Amino acid sequence: MEKHSKVLIVDDSKAITQFLGSYIEEQEHMPIEIAGSLQEVEGLLARDDERFFVAVLDLNLPDAPNGEVVDFVLARKIPVIVLTGFLSDELRDQMLEKRVVDYVMKSNASEINHVAEIIRRIRDNRDIKVLVVDDSRSFRQYVVDLLHVHRYRIYQAADGVEALEVLQEQPDLSLVLTDYHMPRMDGMDLISEIRRRYGRNELAIIGVSDRASPLLSARLLKTGANDFVTKPFMLEEFYCRVNQNIETISHIRAIRESAIRDYLTKVYNRRYLFEAGLKLFENARRKNISLVAAMVDIDYFKRINDSYGHHTGDVALQRVAAVLEGGIRASDLLGRYGGEEFCILATNVSEESHKEFFDRIRQKVADIRIPHKGEEIAFTVSIGVTDTLGESLEQMIGWADEALYRAKQTGRNRVVFHGQE
Ligand code: GH3
Ligand code: MG
Ligand code: MG
Repeated sequence: MEKHSKVLIVDDSKAITQFLGSYIEEQEHMPIEIAGSLQEVEGLLARDDERFFVAVLDLNLPDAPNGEVVDFVLARKIPVIVLTGFLSDELRDQMLEKRVVDYVMKSNASEINHVAEIIRRIRDNRDIKVLVVDDSRSFRQYVVDLLHVHRYRIYQAADGVEALEVLQEQPDLSLVLTDYHMPRMDGMDLISEIRRRYGRNELAIIGVSDRASPLLSARLLKTGANDFVTKPFMLEEFYCRVNQNIETISHIRAIRESAIRDYLTKVYNRRYLFEAGLKLFENARRKNISLVAAMVDIDYFKRINDSYGHHTGDVALQRVAAVLEGGIRASDLLGRYGGEEFCILATNVSEESHKEFFDRIRQKVADIRIPHKGEEIAFTVSIGVTDTLGESLEQMIGWADEALYRAKQTGRNRVVFHGQE
């Protein structure tokens, strides 16, 4: 069992565990385990407690009527969502004090859907980077602890200068939470600096202001913050603002990604390949650095579709894309050029190394095995390459294509270099 992959659901009401359990399993495709009492939870966690990444816990169990199960699960460092039939102010304070992710009233069905949403967020937050900027170590730690409850990937900085350094190393931060008063570079200057490079839709900023200076929040917003929280804040408000800002950024990123990636293989689509490829090409011309263009085409791909079905053909495409993705460097470009044809653009490769490089890719594809009704399907690719810097990107792709054609003609499952065939 994969670590941190399961949801633990604990309630003595079978109606609730069944409803919530099937929703999470069928709609969200996350594996679950169910318990109806503290004793059962103890049993489940005695063997191994690393398979759960979140727990949904009823506060009132037959053998634990006062939320004892919450402490038990939190002690195992599993994030907890509390389910409760009623909620007094004291109980709310108690639960938030213990650092549970959230509490949900189980009175109506829409709230149960909300639980699934929170679970999804806890799962996805592991890849979401948040930077906390504050010169007060204790307040910073307080905010970091709050964010940790929701399992964000957290970075810290003590002032604006440090914050920009972190941003340099983590250019894909989703959210910056920043204080205003700080030595060296204050929050306002930090926000302007960030906004020179990132729009409001690319990176969210929440300014932290003080009740004592109400105008500050207005100035933070005008300088480029997406939102603000005022110290001291209610935890519900803090989490709500953080979550909403991150959700907006994530949605926009997902839309942008889907516009530049191929739906099936997740590598770049042809349009983006040309767009980014042109920059790579022009840069190579300007600086006179080497550029290699390669076309990779699956051999007799039509037969795979015809013999094993279109779905198996799709799987083959995905496996080839994964091999290519794994083979290239971060600075290289990979795109789906057409049906079963991929294009690689790589800069700064020596002649020796790229000959081996493409042959290794060819070999790795030949090693792929796709299970199909007790059989194992194998297939190959032909690769055409050019390492001559042409007059245009189109010309280079044309040369790579000619080399590919030669590779097909001379027997397939081989790498042919343009001009050397
Ligand atoms: P060759 O070795 O000469 O390249 O032969 P081939 O069969 O690979 O080439 P051909 O161009 O004749 O056939 C390509 C096939 O790829 C035809 C098309 O139906 C299939 N194809 C294109 N896109 C997709 C896709 O997204 N999924 C699947 N399953 N098949 C696709
Ligand atoms: Mg083909
Ligand atoms: Mg083809």
